[in-house]
Amino acid sequence: MLKVISEGSYQSRIAWKGLPQGSVLSPLLYNIYSHDLEASLKGKVNTLQYADDLLLYISDYGTFILEPCNTVALHKLNIIQSKALRIIAGAMRSSPINALQVECSEAPCTSDDNFFVTGSCLEHSKSIIILFTLSYETSVFTGECFGLLKSLEYILIMKLKNSIILTDAKSALQALERFPFSNNRNNHPVIIACRDLLHQCCIKNYTVSFAWIPGHSGIFGNTKADSLAKAAVNDGDLVPYKNFCCDLALLPKSQLLNSWTNIWRSSSQTKGRYYSTIQEDIPSKPWFSNLTLGKAITSTLIRMRVGHACIPLHLARLNILPNDICECGNDVGDFNHIFFACTRHDRSAFISSLLSIKIPFPTSISVLLSNINMDVYRILASFIFHNNIKL
Ligand SMILES: [Zn+2]
Repeated sequence: MLKVISEGSYQSRIAWKGLPQGSVLSPLLYNIYSHDLEASLKGKVNTLQYADDLLLYISDYGTFILEPCNTVALHKLNIIQSKALRIIAGAMRSSPINALQVECSEAPCTSDDNFFVTGSCLEHSKSIIILFTLSYETSVFTGECFGLLKSLEYILIMKLKNSIILTDAKSALQALERFPFSNNRNNHPVIIACRDLLHQCCIKNYTVSFAWIPGHSGIFGNTKADSLAKAAVNDGDLVPYKNFCCDLALLPKSQLLNSWTNIWRSSSQTKGRYYSTIQEDIPSKPWFSNLTLGKAITSTLIRMRVGHACIPLHLARLNILPNDICECGNDVGDFNHIFFACTRHDRSAFISSLLSIKIPFPTSISVLLSNINMDVYRILASFIFHNNIKL
């Protein structure tokens, strides 16, 4: 029995769940009651629990999840982020922050919202076609699993003794094949439902075989299934129209990537334009994440990629040098001059090393940097070391 104050007067309510406030047993019973909560989230989101407070979060900081947030706080976070990225990357103070974010694969603290994920699926068995539509948030993988589930339901309903399910959904088949008890975090709820139906088929002595066929390779049934799947987006049965936590948990990441890509595309028109010619898309992780070249060389290469380095061209832009002419006096001191033409440097090993890994000539520094090839990066690094160039 709970007593609540409503509009000034006490009212009684019967509570069917709950623990008495202040009781010695309450915290223990609460812990037992909420024990499975974390396990049921299957590691897609993190939980923070203190007494009866619960917070769900994902570890992508600096995302749209911060919004709506007070703008002063966001501004402070942006400043901290840009300082941290400059220190980590060893970049010059003049380096544009949007380029450093992409280079280090760290999202900005503000972004727009807009995203769509579509899912649809279908069955094609003899002349029976079942079309159904899944929710917009459904992943391709869940859609594929549903395809298998619907086929198995059909086999059971129609009492088919011998069936072969043809599918191009390799990952769904692999999930079905995987040993389900080793790591239950990987068990998709639809795959568990498929296993359940397969078990029922087994009890009824129905033989079900699965065969993988390559998708998009012109196989008649598969091509037809693909075109029907497109139609199912509009005409499909809306049952069951539900979401799975594994699909929803993936959405923030794809939403973040989409909105960040939009921000990067528009901001790089004005800031970080040179870098955008080298790094067009946002990488899933920084190219230097498995640091194999050492910090100093990595920082030098980052400065070269961002285009903000201690070269006459850039130093003249910052008014540190009176002009952008190289010390050799022959030409503008840009990267291409320093690496390919400057008479002050020895480049015999540099050119022959590039030729030995079949780099087509003529080439340029931005071309060499835009294909993230550690062999090329190592050759650039050894040229810088050999000639003691400070960038
Ligand atoms: Zn020169």
